[in-house]
This record gives sequence, structure tokens and C-alpha cells, in this order.
Amino acid sequence: MTKNIKLRLFVDGPLGAGQTVLLTKEQAQRLFTVMRLAVGDFVALFNGTDGEWHAEVMEAGKRKGVLLCRDQSAPQLNPPDLWLLFAPIKKARTEFIVEKATEMGVARVFPVQTRYTNAERLKHDRLQAHMVAAAQQCGGTYVPPLEPAQKLAKLLDHWPGDRHLLFCDETKVGQPVTPLQNAPRGKWAIVIGPEGGFSPDETARLRAMPQATSISLGPRILRADTAAVAALTLWQHALGDWGS
Ligand code: SAH
Repeated sequence: MTKNIKLRLFVDGPLGAGQTVLLTKEQAQRLFTVMRLAVGDFVALFNGTDGEWHAEVMEAGKRKGVLLCRDQSAPQLNPPDLWLLFAPIKKARTEFIVEKATEMGVARVFPVQTRYTNAERLKHDRLQAHMVAAAQQCGGTYVPPLEPAQKLAKLLDHWPGDRHLLFCDETKVGQPVTPLQNAPRGKWAIVIGPEGGFSPDETARLRAMPQATSISLGPRILRADTAAVAALTLWQHALGDWGS
């Protein structure tokens, strides 16, 4: 059966053949009032674990709705085991970072407070919703969990021995970018500093960690949001799921 899919929607709860999905008030409003979907129309659903499913609208109300999963349209695609640690910056730029991390493929996102972090309080739920919207839009079936903000120093105190760190070190500006093709595969985290950069003691600590590879991102100082995208590109291309 060819279906005309009008939109993709992230839902809470299980998906599977014959599974009924109850919409929230906000979802029902979006589908039936804004997008004007009706009974018999199809949407694509994903929940972060069960792949993507085509579901048929069975009931369409102003504030509620019922969908029925028909068939799986894509398998679950989880990202590589890559974390992104970044120091929050201004609201719009922080939104950009979590959106791009979702699109480009990371497993978890960690906002970290560094010595020179200078940002308003993080609106955790809004940022996570922003990531859901990014996954809906980019065709992904996975939404990286956004961890609560925490101090970088504390996170490093308990850093897992088997997780490599790609430390984006602005003091290396102008040095050649280290190719990552020969770096070990496995668990990684990318670390990006705030607008003010890392403090000398943070830089020293990160460099001294046996799990760390510190890299330059080229001849110019990038803004933190640009640096996040650049580092994700280098890592995904060399070690992630872009190549294979
Ligand atoms: N104010 C700082 C720059 C901070 S840029 C200074 O003038 O030195 C924000 C973050 O992006 C940095 O902490 C680093 O993690 C990353 N970054 C930006 N440009 C970089 C480069 N050329 N090489 C490595 N990391 C870079």
C-alpha cells in the first residue's frame, strides 16, 4: 500500500504492529488543527527505540486522537557511542548546538559548566523538545538524552577509563588538524569550551588525561557552535557512521 505520509512525529510509548497510540492534546492540535489531517491519513511515528512506523489516523479530535501502527517503515538507527560535552552559550547558539548534535548523530549530550562558562540557566525541557523537533525533521529515529547541566571538573573526576576524549583545544589554533582515521574506535566524547575558552588549569587537566586526544580545529578560532559542528564532522567522518 503506498501511503502519502504527511508528517513525522515522536511519541512516548511502545510502537509495533497493531499498536494503538493515543495523542497528547498538543499533538492532536498539531495534527488535526494545524496540519488538517483526518481519519484515514497516515503519519510516521518513532519513539527512540522501536524504529519508524507508519500509522493511520483512527480518531481525530480537537484535543485528542488515536493512531494505529500499520507497518514498520524504517529500522531503529542508533548513533555511534559518542557523547558531546559543551559549555552552554547564548540561548539561540545553545539551541543550535543541541539541534546539530541530534542531526549529526550523538548518543548523549552533556552541558557542562566550565570556569569561564557564562550562560543563562538552561531550559532543559525546552532544549530537549528542540532535539525532538530536530529528530522529527531530519528523519532520525533516535533522540539523544540531554543530561542535566553539571560541572566539567566533577564529570572528569569520574570519567570512564574506556571512553576516549576528543579535546578541542583552542591553544592549538594554527596547528595542523590531527587526522582521526587511525584513532581507536569505540566509546568517545567530544569536548568543546565556552566563548571564553578553557582556563589554563582545565586545559592542563584535559591534556593530561590518558583518554584524551587534543586537537586543533584549524587556523582560525571558531565560535563554540561552529567548533561543535566541525568536531562532529571530523569524528563522524573518521570513526562514526557516516562512512559505513
Ligand atoms: N575565547 C577563546 C576561544 C573559545 S572558542 C580564545 O580566544 O582562545 C570556543 C571553543 O571552541 C574552544 O574552547 C574550543 O573547544 C573550540 N575551538 C574553537 N576554535 C578552535 C580551534 N581552532 N582549535 C581547537 N578548538 C577550537
